[in-house]
Amino acid sequence: MSTTSTPPPVLSPIVDEPVPQPVRWGDAELERLAAMVKQPSLFYYNGPQTNALLTDFRKHYPFKNLFPCSSGTASLHIAVGALRLRPGEEVIVSPITDMGSVIGVLYQQGVPVFADLDPRTYNMDPGSIRRVITPKTRAIMAIHLAGNPCDMTAILAIAKEHNLAVIEDCAQSWGSRHQGTPVGLMGDFGCYSFNDFKHIACGDGGIVGTNSERYGAGLSKWGDKCYDRAGGTRDPEELAPNYRMSEPQSAVCVAQLGKLDDIVARRNRAGSLLTSLLQDLPGVLPPVTREGNYHSYWFYFMRIDPAVLKCTRAEFVAELRAQGVAANAGYIPMPVYRYKVFQNHNFFGGAWPVRDCGLTTMDYRQVSCPVAAAILEDGITMPLNQAMSDRYIEKVGRAIRTVAERLAK
Ligand SMILES: *Cc1c(COP(=O)(O)O)cnc(C)c1O
Repeated sequence: MSTTSTPPPVLSPIVDEPVPQPVRWGDAELERLAAMVKQPSLFYYNGPQTNALLTDFRKHYPFKNLFPCSSGTASLHIAVGALRLRPGEEVIVSPITDMGSVIGVLYQQGVPVFADLDPRTYNMDPGSIRRVITPKTRAIMAIHLAGNPCDMTAILAIAKEHNLAVIEDCAQSWGSRHQGTPVGLMGDFGCYSFNDFKHIACGDGGIVGTNSERYGAGLSKWGDKCYDRAGGTRDPEELAPNYRMSEPQSAVCVAQLGKLDDIVARRNRAGSLLTSLLQDLPGVLPPVTREGNYHSYWFYFMRIDPAVLKCTRAEFVAELRAQGVAANAGYIPMPVYRYKVFQNHNFFGGAWPVRDCGLTTMDYRQVSCPVAAAILEDGITMPLNQAMSDRYIEKVGRAIRTVAERLAK
């Protein structure tokens, strides 16, 4: 990254107020927790808080089978486990995501295969997905980045054609909809995170759902040591981790779900407004939401063209910050396949059993997704939340416009 030349001090920045911060917890959470401490047990199975979570979650996401769990990472691992992924089988993933998307695949001895991205939505490009399909491909993980839905029409068509399962990683996309359908309901599994940073949160938690006849029966066992809670027997047929949710987490999640629609509507309004304010601005490429899709803006992710702006990204971000915009250069530091753990195939104490046993020839040092790499090189992220008024967003838009128009002259 180039060194930042500090822009001249701005006496009255256009964004003349700190980033608005929402109040995230309050009476609704307290009421739930107060009722909870009177319970004799805090165990999830048949727990009143967890049962309420299941009921309320279904109002937003009508899944037949659900398992509330300890994190978004756990929800994805449970999906991969319930799929009965076999060692060496491949799951197609995005190179711009959280490690949580790939952790479960690797623990099940599967092989994450990286597809490249659409340059404007930052989601997997269907053409690239097709190019990385092999006889070992078992599933596509559709990761709806930043709240922007993937092209599920194309992904489901590819999956059908090649008989692949689809796992939707909805950790960043609470409330997002693809052609009217909430994300998570279109694939075989929908996976969600309640970690502290997501739209709604309980500190750490997650939930996974499926409407599939084939995978539904195994879902809950897959996050609970393969114990059969309903039958009460203890003779596990398979190896499965303990990823259970607990009552304190569920209590907070129920209260949070009550706020979901409002949070999502406000974020969509703020994000859409900012995108509209950045149209036709030289050198600035706001994110694109495909026609008919609904973006819930977990954060705001735009790109720039440094050639048009005649400056580096670092310089542009410094100018934005001088105008009071909470802009950050980039998102994750590099595509996931470039992380040390992948470059060294250091998945299990320095070894990678599936490769050592000849079940895969994958070499992550050879992987290249040029669009993903470019997005991370010229991308700029900004916080976006439900406390941001139109007036605040208008200031942010005006600041970006002022800086870009001056530089692009
Ligand atoms: C946050 C996140 C996860 C993991 O969720 P945790 O609850 O932190 O384990 C997975 N995928 C994506 C895209 C995420 O943003």
